[in-house]
Amino acid sequence: MPWPSETNRDTEVFGLIDKERERQTTGLQLIASENFTSPDVMEATGSVLTNKYAEGYPQKRYYGGNAVVDEIEALAIERVKKLFGADHANVQPHSGASANMAVYLGLIKPGDTVLGLSLDHGGHLTHGSPVNASGILYNFQSFRVGATDERLDFDQIRDLAIKHKPKLIVAGTTSYPRRLEPQPFRAIADEVGALMMFDIAHIAGLVAGGAHPNPVPYADVVTFTTHKTLRGPRGGCILTTAAHAAAIDKAVFPGSQGGPLEHAVAAKAVAFHEAMQPSFKEYAQQIVKNAAALAEALSKQGFRLVSGGTDTHMMVVDLQPFDAELTGKESQLVLDEAGITLNKNNIPNDPRSPFVTSGVRIGTPSVTTQGMKEPEMALIAEYIATTLRNRNNPAVVAEVRAKVAALCAKFPVYPKRA
Ligand SMILES: *Cc1c(COP(=O)(O)O)cnc(C)c1O
Repeated sequence: MPWPSETNRDTEVFGLIDKERERQTTGLQLIASENFTSPDVMEATGSVLTNKYAEGYPQKRYYGGNAVVDEIEALAIERVKKLFGADHANVQPHSGASANMAVYLGLIKPGDTVLGLSLDHGGHLTHGSPVNASGILYNFQSFRVGATDERLDFDQIRDLAIKHKPKLIVAGTTSYPRRLEPQPFRAIADEVGALMMFDIAHIAGLVAGGAHPNPVPYADVVTFTTHKTLRGPRGGCILTTAAHAAAIDKAVFPGSQGGPLEHAVAAKAVAFHEAMQPSFKEYAQQIVKNAAALAEALSKQGFRLVSGGTDTHMMVVDLQPFDAELTGKESQLVLDEAGITLNKNNIPNDPRSPFVTSGVRIGTPSVTTQGMKEPEMALIAEYIATTLRNRNNPAVVAEVRAKVAALCAKFPVYPKRA
């Protein structure tokens, strides 16, 4: 039996997809964990590979018909190993969270102690939040950023490591704007006999493009998402030393996943190819330059940057000096009205709850993909400040919305469709 034909196509869903394309391309996308994938990445994601079951690994599958899929997955593995200089790669994790859970399953036992960055200071849910399986199954202890400089404090991390004797130290962040040096984590892990995992979900594209130090030579395991700065399909990936390769593969399949999403694996391979091009180095550098320009322009508008600025693709903005009454929640809502999409975010030691917050997080990966540069960052800072200052004046917000649309029209993301 064929599928529903052209005459009764699901216009509801496809109409909504068109609407979402319109939203993404006529507004400013400043969520630090998002990006615009290439048409090639999207083509692979929407390919016939979604039809195939491929439980297992190349040359070791449970079902037949995997000769081509084996070639695709092997290509993804070879490329990502080369891109990051890793001994071994597993490209099957469905997401960053799945990659992290597989690492815990493969390397430690339930109840074991792990040391990671506190969620409200920039860590991720999967780094031991009490509502996440990581925090439920393992004994996570947390370090926090320094009270005055709002940066990682390696003396504190070392003290906690000596006190708690973790089996694993998790480095990596989800809303921390500064460079993460891998060597001090390695030194502490070695001193207390812990393994070291580096979660570069946010910064994988910066690492691949040479705009951030590469932790692969120092870490036992590196995990990342392929859809953030790396600009691939939604998904995860794990890199390991040869010593942990078998344990990690076993923890992904059959440990925590079933059939891999080979359409996503193919799209990851395409993204790795794109990240190997010289133009990707320029892209990564420009993301960082744009973030620095945007941070500076925002501080001129009266905002405070957590830690004083950024070395990466993101910044966390403290709204309190700009307007003590203004919350992150209200900012996110009114900026959405103006066509500027970002997310509320706790600042370190935030007096407000994670649902309200005193800050917002802003990232430049998407606008940089569009081709925007430093002059546009100054405009974006102005649009944000004008919207927030006039948040009770719908006419001004509508004026900004029109300016945002005009700016985005000058930097089209995807070719116009007929
Ligand atoms: C985004 C992120 C993840 C999780 O990725 P998902 O694909 O959303 O599961 C894990 N760790 C860090 C540090 C992240 O920023």
